[in-house]
Amino acid sequence: MTEPMLPEETQVQPARQRRASMNVLGQLSMVFTVGAILATLFTAWTPLGLFPSDLAERMAGWFSGENPAQGGTFPTPTPRPRPRIGIVAGHWGGSDPGAVCTDGLTEVEITLNVATRVKDALTAAGFDVDLLEEFDDRLAEYQALALVSIHADTCAFIDDNATGFKVTAALASVSPEKASRLVACLRSRYQEVTGLRFHSGSVTPHMSSYHAFDEIHAETTAAIMEIGFMNLDRQILTQQPDVLAQGIANGVLCFIYNEDASPAEGQQ
Ligand SMILES: [Zn+2]
Repeated sequence: MTEPMLPEETQVQPARQRRASMNVLGQLSMVFTVGAILATLFTAWTPLGLFPSDLAERMAGWFSGENPAQGGTFPTPTPRPRPRIGIVAGHWGGSDPGAVCTDGLTEVEITLNVATRVKDALTAAGFDVDLLEEFDDRLAEYQALALVSIHADTCAFIDDNATGFKVTAALASVSPEKASRLVACLRSRYQEVTGLRFHSGSVTPHMSSYHAFDEIHAETTAAIMEIGFMNLDRQILTQQPDVLAQGIANGVLCFIYNEDASPAEGQQ
């Protein structure tokens, strides 16, 4: 550099800056001069005359919501909040294990196993995922892009038709379009990945009036799934939890990324 560092009191020299703007070195000089002025001003505004490096830290704090001067503006005080998704492992954490088979296999074993893997898959996709108990305190006014509660159907043999999965959203959602899109995405991707058929016509009031739907924040789009029947679908439920989890995770991602959720070829 041909320009010497300028003392602070000579930094503001408009005429000099106009002359300098005619050549590259002059422009560079102006950039440095403006930078020096800004740094001086910021330093002057900072109560203790802090250095710009501290300013950078403070700015990082503003962007991450940690600046105490803006307390309350950001609901999540984590350094880097990522979009949140909630996964309820059906019957987990309570005294009711859900459906039970005669040999002792419980619904909660299946749901927790699958839900844990859904959490892993969505975490790997860049989201903050809460693995929630059936009656989790965090469900009160819970806010997330989506909440999916995972259950499995009875272990009793009903008939040859008692196979496949069900998915439904809250009846009285504030955003029925979003809710039905989440359902369409879960249905499409779960069917595609697992090969299980959609068990239509048997969504019960027990599902659509699911207790968590009334507890979570009104803006949180939520759905409940019965991921298979513990009798006829026992093998995939117990032996291929990763496949089931991938189907659910893909469904959630389909919803979040506005993917096409129309049924694939051959799906009903
Ligand atoms: Zn259940």
